[in-house]
Amino acid sequence: MFVDKAKIYIRAGRGGNGAVSFHREKYVAAGGPDGGDGGRGGSVVFEVDPNLSTLVDFRFKKKYVAEDGQPGGAKRCSGKGGRDLVIKVPKGTLVRDFETGRLLADLSGTEPVVLAVGGRGGAGNQHFATATRQIPRFAKPGKPGEEFTLSLELKLLADVGLVGFPNVGKSTLISVVSAAKPQIANYHFTTLTPVLGVVKIDEGKSFVMADIPGLIEGASDGVGLGHDFLRHVERCRLIVHVVDVSGSEGRDPKEDFAIINRELANFSEELAERPQIVAANKCDLASAEQIAEFRAFVEGRGYALFEISAATTQGARELVDRVAAELDTLPPIREFEAQPITEAERQANETRPQEFEITQEDGAYFVEADFLEDILMTANMEDYESLQYFQRVLRSSGVIAQLEKMGIQEGDTVCIGGFEFDFVK
Ligand code: GDP
Ligand code: MG
Repeated sequence: MFVDKAKIYIRAGRGGNGAVSFHREKYVAAGGPDGGDGGRGGSVVFEVDPNLSTLVDFRFKKKYVAEDGQPGGAKRCSGKGGRDLVIKVPKGTLVRDFETGRLLADLSGTEPVVLAVGGRGGAGNQHFATATRQIPRFAKPGKPGEEFTLSLELKLLADVGLVGFPNVGKSTLISVVSAAKPQIANYHFTTLTPVLGVVKIDEGKSFVMADIPGLIEGASDGVGLGHDFLRHVERCRLIVHVVDVSGSEGRDPKEDFAIINRELANFSEELAERPQIVAANKCDLASAEQIAEFRAFVEGRGYALFEISAATTQGARELVDRVAAELDTLPPIREFEAQPITEAERQANETRPQEFEITQEDGAYFVEADFLEDILMTANMEDYESLQYFQRVLRSSGVIAQLEKMGIQEGDTVCIGGFEFDFVK
């Protein structure tokens, strides 16, 4: 089965926590704080792998998490950064935010794209000594990495797309003009995954041809192998429309030709207007009258026609030379305009309003908030300075205001994570 769509979850690594540590040396009393910073979390990066042609790997693995940063250590040692996670995708993969559908990246080039940025490491207590606070017993927690649910969609990148009914000889054609080795067989739909072939014209001149699984009638309405495959023609600069001119399967080549073009037009007007060259295949089986009749029909509609026999390679060279000449006059392969996440958005996300939820049970107030648990993880609540810092955050984040709104009284119990204290006004 050809997989060209997937839904995955990615998360960048969390930054390491800053360390709380004090300088110790023989004969030196009361050394200063020397807790190092946490390392940055690894990012999630997408990169094109030219050897891939489907998204099948993403059917089995759907969760991608980069490495967390290491916590800071004593003696001002910074934690090691987490390793980036590189996700390899086939060329032409569109990456969208699953929720909004926003196109975050079009993986068509060679440049890797950073999708989820790793969280920053927390500062160690080495940074928090001041004239009045000489023994800072707290450090900052690392920030969580960015996370996304993404939809991936492959829209193949090829200069030329072969279209035509099943069994007309598309796979045979690509196999004789390129090094691609698609399955060729005398039954319908042998081609279930697109095959890309590089067609070499001269030294240093080549183009990419895609053998796209056979279109069938009603394809554009989503019947059978419908839209899924038309999608891959969308980016081609030129269409080579292969027709069995001999009618060897008892079909009428003129009708075939019209049906396929109708399917393309139903899928998109733009596709119908894409430059098209007609390859009248199986000329070895066709009579001179059959060929002449079809030629008149096709040329009458303004298309160029090439007589070929893919099986014997007759006429293939002329077709390919013409395709190359046409391509020279056409604009480059279309890339979609992505709207990557901007630096400003990333920052806004990082300082996103601190969310919390408070529930009341038996006179106690339970506060659930990730950001507070982060602080509790690195702060020492026996320490006066740390406690003060914690209280400041409770106030600035609006937790205190909310508790008061809920009617908290002096002496009531507040639970945050595993930490419990009495409320004091
Ligand atoms: P596709 O479904 O369009 O990819 O068609 P294939 O390339 O798989 O070919 C279908 C059948 O037609 C195979 O049995 C081929 O050997 C045969 N075929 C392809 N091209 C020619 C040709 O030029 N002449 C003849 N006689 N048979 C051909
Ligand atoms: Mg085929």
